[in-house]
Amino acid sequence: MGPSEILQRTLPKNSKEAQMKSAFYWFRNDLRLEDNLALTRAAEACDALIPVYVFDEAVALRPFLGFERMGAFRKKFLWESLQDLKEELSKHGGGLIIEQGELPAVFEDLQGVYECDIIYCAEAIGTEERDQEQMLKACDFDVRTIHDQCLYHKDDLPFDWNDAPEVYTPFRKKVEKYADVRSSLPAPGFKNLVDVDASILPPPALDGMAKEVDNRSAFPFKGGRMAAKERLKHYLWESNLITSYKETRNGLVGTDYSSKLSAWLSLGCISAREVYHEVKHYERERRKNNSTYWLIFELIWRDFFQFMLIKHGRKLFLASGIQGEATNWTHDEKRLMSWINGATKNDFVNANMREIKETGFMSNRGRQVVASYLINDLNCDWRFGAAYFESVLIDYDAASNYGNWQYIAGVGNDPRPDRYFNPKTQSERYDPDQVFQRLWLK
Ligand SMILES: Cc1cc2nc3c(=O)[nH]c(=O)nc-3n(C[C@H](O)[C@H](O)[C@H](O)COP(=O)(O)OP(=O)(O)OC[C@H]3O[C@@H](n4cnc5c(N)ncnc54)[C@H](O)[C@@H]3O)c2cc1C
Repeated sequence: MGPSEILQRTLPKNSKEAQMKSAFYWFRNDLRLEDNLALTRAAEACDALIPVYVFDEAVALRPFLGFERMGAFRKKFLWESLQDLKEELSKHGGGLIIEQGELPAVFEDLQGVYECDIIYCAEAIGTEERDQEQMLKACDFDVRTIHDQCLYHKDDLPFDWNDAPEVYTPFRKKVEKYADVRSSLPAPGFKNLVDVDASILPPPALDGMAKEVDNRSAFPFKGGRMAAKERLKHYLWESNLITSYKETRNGLVGTDYSSKLSAWLSLGCISAREVYHEVKHYERERRKNNSTYWLIFELIWRDFFQFMLIKHGRKLFLASGIQGEATNWTHDEKRLMSWINGATKNDFVNANMREIKETGFMSNRGRQVVASYLINDLNCDWRFGAAYFESVLIDYDAASNYGNWQYIAGVGNDPRPDRYFNPKTQSERYDPDQVFQRLWLK
C-alpha cells in the first residue's frame, strides 16, 4: 500500500486512536513481538501503537562497491519474515504498514495521516541505521531508541562499551564472569495496536526475490519467527544435534552440522537471548557438554562483533579497518569475478562460491577459506568480498560480516597478523572425500 492509499485510510482526527497517546513502532532488525524490549517499552508507554516497516530507498537501493545491497535470497527471507510478523500482529488486533521511500518522507506522510510524531524503535548498531535516526530527529520526530540487539545488554557490560576489549577472548571472559544475560520477555500486553492494513504485495525494493530453493542447499531457509522457533526446537529437543555441535560445526554439507539460526538472528525473528535461554534450559533438562556450551561461545562471538561495530562505527567499513593502518589493497575486477563465479584455480574455493551464489548460504569454514583466498591468494581488496557477501548472504549482518572480513584481512580484531587459510590443506581436512566439491561442481 502506497502513501496515497494510506492517506485514504486516515484515522479521523477526532477518532479514539487520534486522541490517545499514540506512537509509531518502527520495526527494524527486530521482527518479533516476544522478547522485544523496545516494543515492550513502547507498548507500556502508549495507548495506541502503529506498527511500521520501511524500505529506506537511501539504504536499501543504493549499491555498495557496485553490488546490490540486498540480493534475491535475503529479499525472499525478509518478505517471509514480514508476513509472519504481520500474522502475529493480527493476533493482537493490529496490522503492519510496509512502506518504501526516503525514510523521513515516509514518516512525514504517515504523520499527516496519524497525527503522531513519536517513533519508538530498537537502537541501531550500524552506522547507516544510526544516521537514519539522526535524519528523523532532524525532521523533528521524537525518536525513542532502546538498545536490544545483543545477548548481553549494553548497560550490563562489565566495562564501558567504549572500552570493550579489542580481542575476543578477554571480551568473552569478562562478560561470562561479570555479566548476566537478561531474562527473555513475553509479548507485550498491547493496549491498542492500530489495525492498519498491511501490504499484500512486496514493494519494488523486493523485486527479483528468489523463487525456488536449490535442493542442494545446506538448509531450506524460511523467514519468520515460527520457522525460527521450529528450527531451534528441532536442533535442541527433537534431534539433540546440539550435543555434537563442537565436533560437527566445521561441516559443509546438509542441515545438521550447525544450528543455521543466523538468518533469523540477523533479522531479529528470534533473539540471541532466547537462543541462550533455550540452550540453558536444554542443559538443565537434558544434557550439558562442551558442544552445548560452544553454541553459546559462538553467540558471544556475535555479540563481540556487535559491540565492535558500536565502538568503532564507520571504521568497520574502511579498507584500513579498525586498526586504521595504511594499506595498499588492489582491486582487480577479473580476479574478483573469477572468485564470485567459482572459477578460480582452487576447486574447494569454487565449490563454496557456487554454493553461496546458488543458495545465499555458506558454512563458517567455507567463509573463512574463501575470504582468505580472495585476500591472500588473489590479492584483492577485502571490502569487495565483504560487499559481495552483503549482497548475497541470506544471513547478512553488518557487524558479523564486516567484522569477520576485517579479522581475516588482518585489519580488524585479530592480534595475529597472518590469517591465512591454505585452501589445499583446508580441503584435505574438511572435505577429504570431496563430497562437498562433487555436490557443487558436478
Ligand atoms: C567472512 C565471513 C563473513 C561472515 N558473515 C556473516 C554474516 O553476514 N552474518 C552472520 O550472521 N554471520 C556471518 N559470519 C559468521 C558465521 O559464518 C555465520 O554466523 C554462521 O556460518 C552461520 O551459520 P549457523 O547459524 O549455522 O552458525 P552456528 O555455527 O550454528 O553458530 C550459531 C550462531 O553463532 C553466531 N556465530 C557463529 N560464528 C560466528 C562468527 N564467526 N561471527 C559472528 N557470529 C557467529 C551466529 O549468530 C550463528 O547463527 C561470517 C563469517 C565469515 C568468516
